[in-house]
Amino acid sequence: MEKRQELYRGKAKTVYATDDPGLLVMHFRDDTSAFDGTKVSQLAQKGETNNRINAFIMGKLAAAGVATHFVRLLNERDSLVIALKMIPVECVVRNVCAGSMAKRYGIAEGTRLSEPIFEFFYKSDALHDPLVNDDHLRVLGWANATEIAEMKSLTHRVNQVLKPLFADAGIELVDYKLEFGHAVSDPAGPLLLGDEFTPDGCRLWDLATQEKLDKDRFRRDLGGVIENIRKSPSALACRCHNALPRRSKRASAKRQKQEQRSRPCGRLFCSIATALFLHFLGCVLGVLGGVLGIHRRALGVLG
Ligand code: ADP
Ligand code: UDP
Repeated sequence: MEKRQELYRGKAKTVYATDDPGLLVMHFRDDTSAFDGTKVSQLAQKGETNNRINAFIMGKLAAAGVATHFVRLLNERDSLVIALKMIPVECVVRNVCAGSMAKRYGIAEGTRLSEPIFEFFYKSDALHDPLVNDDHLRVLGWANATEIAEMKSLTHRVNQVLKPLFADAGIELVDYKLEFGHAVSDPAGPLLLGDEFTPDGCRLWDLATQEKLDKDRFRRDLGGVIENIRKSPSALACRCHNALPRRSKRASAKRQKQEQRSRPCGRLFCSIATALFLHFLGCVLGVLGGVLGIHRRALGVLG
């Protein structure tokens, strides 16, 4: 596979053609942008960090049955992907109120939602990605009814896969944005998840401290952007790459703790139960003995 001409230079990634018209190279740059590209900065190691995180998450999603454009990692900053005809909308699912939803409806950031909320945004920096609904997509010809239903269901499915994965690493998946498209080689085929899943396009909070581990650190000038971004998902990725499933480690630690805690109690409970049982048995035998004695005595009297 040969990397050829640049096709598109976005705010954070560059897309290249390859010698196969069905495949593209997605190059992750260090550029970080916010507010529709009006705030831009270079953050060392961001490109390679996001390339790795994306590869890891795409792998997890594919394993869970979500078809994606990701083919394989090529090097630190490049990934090979299936060329898609993108649907020009962003699909957002929120588990916790934050960002534009908090502002739009005047709801405190951090408010837990009783169930995930889905939103469509029309992808246009010039228009600041306006919120749109199913009718806009259908009537304006951006997507048909089947694609709309599929995008919603796939975006929710991603939540079911990733929410527990992050939670297991002590991270809350607050919200995220996905993009979908059809393979150019199979335009009538199924929708594939395109673009990326990285801390650039989602909100991740430390479950214990609520510390932000995503691009909000850049948007809100909180500093330590890469340090914090690398802290969570890359740590998660490393753990899983190293085949150290945290869930089982943590579960076994928890189980051990529970066992330690339950052992003395269990022993105490057993001792008390045994003592009570022996006491009960003693009483029964005593009563029986008494009854037998009376019986014998009565028989003697009669005899
Ligand atoms: P933006 O366009 O928002 O500035 P990026 O800098 O991330 O975003 O550029 C990547 C662009 O590539 C996005 O516009 C995205 O829709 C597009 N894209 C992502 N995956 C694919 C794909 N498999 N085929 C074609 N285009 C893709
Ligand atoms: N998002 C994104 N690209 C955008 C807009 C939003 O990746 O152009 C992500 C964002 O990182 C967050 C989610 O989508 O995880 C919801 O974003 P929101 O609508 O709250 O907008 P924001 O205030 O973050 O721009």
